[in-house]
Amino acid sequence: MTSTTEIETRLGKLRVFKHAGWTARFPDLAQGITGRAGDFDFGTREQYPADTDRRSSDGWALLQDFSGVDSVARCSQVHGAEVITCERLRRSGVAVLGQGDAIVTDRAGVLLTITVADCVPVFMVDPQRRLLGLAHAGWRGIAAGVVGATLEAMRRLGASAESLYVHLGPAICGGCYEVGSEVQSALGGSREAGQVDLRAHIARGLAEVGVDEERLTASAACTRCDSGSFFSYRGGDRGRRMCAFLGWPAG
Ligand SMILES: [Zn+2]
Repeated sequence: MTSTTEIETRLGKLRVFKHAGWTARFPDLAQGITGRAGDFDFGTREQYPADTDRRSSDGWALLQDFSGVDSVARCSQVHGAEVITCERLRRSGVAVLGQGDAIVTDRAGVLLTITVADCVPVFMVDPQRRLLGLAHAGWRGIAAGVVGATLEAMRRLGASAESLYVHLGPAICGGCYEVGSEVQSALGGSREAGQVDLRAHIARGLAEVGVDEERLTASAACTRCDSGSFFSYRGGDRGRRMCAFLGWPAG
């Protein structure tokens, strides 16, 4: 696994952090995660309260325009392992596909999105077959198997583990994530309370199922250490979320 840094760009009122290596490798891919910018977030308050122009104030619409897609796919996240396979959406705009913590697709023109604040956004790309997967992985989802379930859904679309590029985006670091014995044992570790590095845990699991470690990267950014750039649930940002997104533009 290689540690990476993000490139920061500005998108209207949004701050967006993109994988530097993927920007060069997959120039047409829309990929990234929003950051802390003023009063705006993708959690309970999805719009700038003071802004009367709904279109300009809607972060989802901004991401749609930025990414060159027809539609944006969201899911109602529950910290589980349910994966939604996104077919072509019937209409343009933002659609909530149902309850789940990961979305996969073989379609261009659809932007997959999940929201996070400390949990790990897991980006999966099969560039040959043009397949995409995006998962929301906190300790509950990891223990429930959400990362493996997403990989399995990618396989059903035709991907193989060896062909995948996987990136673990900005999330809480091991030093900041102190957990109790119940979390440790749910993750298959020791039964003693202590620190957990969720991204290292996910990376070990992915290597075990055949993901090429050369194609596996993890952001060096910690959502709690870098509270100026990101939201952190543990850092006190209850209800506030960043949006991770992944999509090929409409063809
Ligand atoms: Zn940290």
